[in-house]
Amino acid sequence: MTALSFETFPPKSLDASFHLWDTVHALAPLNPRFISVTYGAGGSTQSLTQEAAQTLRKSSGLPVAAHLTCTCQTRAEVLRTASRFAASGIDHIVALRGDAPNGDAFEPHPDGYANSVELIAALAQMGTFNICVGAYPDSHPDAASMSQNIDWLKAKIDAGASEALTQFFFEADSFLRFRDACADAGIKARITPGILPVTNWKRAKSFAKRCGTPVPVTIATAFDRANREDRADLFALTHCADLCDTLITEGVDALHFYTLNRPDLTVQVCRALGMMPAARALNVA
Ligand code: FAD
Repeated sequence: MTALSFETFPPKSLDASFHLWDTVHALAPLNPRFISVTYGAGGSTQSLTQEAAQTLRKSSGLPVAAHLTCTCQTRAEVLRTASRFAASGIDHIVALRGDAPNGDAFEPHPDGYANSVELIAALAQMGTFNICVGAYPDSHPDAASMSQNIDWLKAKIDAGASEALTQFFFEADSFLRFRDACADAGIKARITPGILPVTNWKRAKSFAKRCGTPVPVTIATAFDRANREDRADLFALTHCADLCDTLITEGVDALHFYTLNRPDLTVQVCRALGMMPAARALNVA
């Protein structure tokens, strides 16, 4: 059985709040192992992330993970946010360095954590949290090499993380090669592939460019053609389901979906993989 988790972002308006609630409502029948709530660039959504995570946990009854970054914040501010998460019953954190809000190179706050390893070690010391971290199958723009990218992931796990959630990628081989290299480097923690169901190809391409995720020519061509023929939805579903199917065949036992608060394609992919939402299964019974 493949374990599922879903990433959402915190709402900034009443309308967006309903949208998030609809998203979680649509995903809940898939029995997620957790729903995660992102943290705005530069710590911009501290209280929104906390409120959204807390409310989702209470009202949906699902396990919730809150993302936390250390960019543009002092150590004290970050620890205060972590303590607030803990006080509101959130014991699962996705701990990240984060990016500078304006796209500049990362510069630690003078009184802040210098990097993600310091943040993870501090959270681990609190003894309260299950800690996930980010991982980069196609490497990261700040990595000097793939081996440094993997060594750094090992340092993050050794600092107290129990699992890595990856950046999205377009080809199963990117993840499978990375998983093998991580195993060779002695990383034993679960590495869960991050899956982006593409609801808007133009946005996905620009997101990939920002993250340094290569877009294979064959996939770009296929999406462009599908867009011209008004069949992008169909291609996105086929491509994503095929990617997940290959990963599962290769022994992957958990998938983390970037939903962008648009659950429909994610639900369709899960159905295509035979993961029928619990409510439908009950109806059949
Ligand atoms: P790190 O892993 O610390 O660094 C990235 C790479 O840079 C490393 O692989 C390593 O090669 C290199 N590196 C960095 N520092 C050092 C060092 N001191 N020595 C050697 N090498 C180093 N961003 C948000 O703002 N909010 C979110 O909620 C959010 N959620 C995310 C969830 C997931 C699953 C992922 C994968 C990313 C998310 N991000 C989020 C984006 C993330 O903040 C950026 O990718 C950021 O650039 C890196 O954060 P990190 O903790 O993964 O970086």
